[in-house]
Amino acid sequence: MRIDKTRLGKTQSVCPVCLARIPAERVARGGDIFLEKTCAEHGSFSAVVWRGDDAQFDKWWSYSPPDNAPELAATCCALVEVTSRCDLRCPVCFAGAGDASTEPTVAELYEIFKKLADAGSTFVQISGGEPTARDDLPEIVAAARRAGCETVQLNSNGLRLGREPEFTRALADAGLSFVFLQFDGVTDKTYEKLRGKPILTEKTEAIRVCGENFLGVTLVPTLVPGVNDGEIGDIIDFAVKHSPVVRGVHFQPISYFGRYPTPPRDEDRITLPEVLRGIEAQTAGKFKIKDFNPSACDHPRCGFHGDFVVLPRGKIMKLTKKYNPDACCGADAHLKNRAFVARRWTRSPDAESAAQTEPAADARDMSAFLTRVKSHGFTITAMTFQDAWTLDYERLRRCSLHVFDGASTVQFCARYLTNA
Ligand SMILES: [Zn+2]
Repeated sequence: MRIDKTRLGKTQSVCPVCLARIPAERVARGGDIFLEKTCAEHGSFSAVVWRGDDAQFDKWWSYSPPDNAPELAATCCALVEVTSRCDLRCPVCFAGAGDASTEPTVAELYEIFKKLADAGSTFVQISGGEPTARDDLPEIVAAARRAGCETVQLNSNGLRLGREPEFTRALADAGLSFVFLQFDGVTDKTYEKLRGKPILTEKTEAIRVCGENFLGVTLVPTLVPGVNDGEIGDIIDFAVKHSPVVRGVHFQPISYFGRYPTPPRDEDRITLPEVLRGIEAQTAGKFKIKDFNPSACDHPRCGFHGDFVVLPRGKIMKLTKKYNPDACCGADAHLKNRAFVARRWTRSPDAESAAQTEPAADARDMSAFLTRVKSHGFTITAMTFQDAWTLDYERLRRCSLHVFDGASTVQFCARYLTNA
């Protein structure tokens, strides 16, 4: 059985050299799917976007966009960059280095958060650079909460969170909801390759300190073929062992933002079906491909989502509902869906203390089970960003992750296309 190829067809992309918008085509070859396009001036380009055409991936391909799709979908998660400084120099990072002089002030950031919250976008990601480079980060978090943002996510490499527990406590006290922790693997070898430093101990310390401050942590590995694509199962095992502090894993296959002298090779890309196959194979079937559904908030081929609960002794139970491609159509449904996801990434102190006093959670004891779902919820998600070689406008139009600088809103993938 093979996926339904009627969804291949034509779309639009950009020329990776001049960034002009040009027609593109999704082409199946040898079981893989490529995005191919030609710029009149700069020639032809091809990049692999999907490896494997098994029928089990059909639900990622059965979506058909509405004819009247707007160029920009509703913002349900807004990313705000608070700095471009960083204490790491990662070979794989798309954020540029910068200095403090160009950073928005807390008052300016408050205005940005207020605009977002007033427009109904109350889920904000604080990003960078490395946001913890700013000493006033707790004030920034407090400003977001004061402006009406209900969920405040911090994207961080975690180094300072582990090193300075009082800083982490200040973030929790200011109203931080949870942390998305850059976490590429369970070996120092991986960090040396991707981040230029052996920092596994620092990552573990960050998780411990977040745990003490009741901050949920979601591990965010950047997957790079030949570096850490063999650690998918070990990362998930590590996450399960650290439940309920660790709320899940959010995989990001590497993308090639910025301008490159030569196009990235297809061998340097890992596509969503490969991540799914890696999950099933490397966890010995504890998590299965059929446990996952396409992203509901974004274009289905931008990612996947699986909901689980960690039962006592590390046993896993799947919670994923039946996939409904229209679950996130209206702006309202969008927000509800985001709120649901945000709750899964946030720790519930009440549920955790109840889970300790009640008998071992078990599906036969409904109330204990529901408490366990709250206290030990676990998600495995993935989001594959598009770069100038893989950009598909059909996907871009449904992107719900927007970068907001107070004046303009732009889709995440479009923002980082050129690294400018
Ligand atoms: Zn061109």
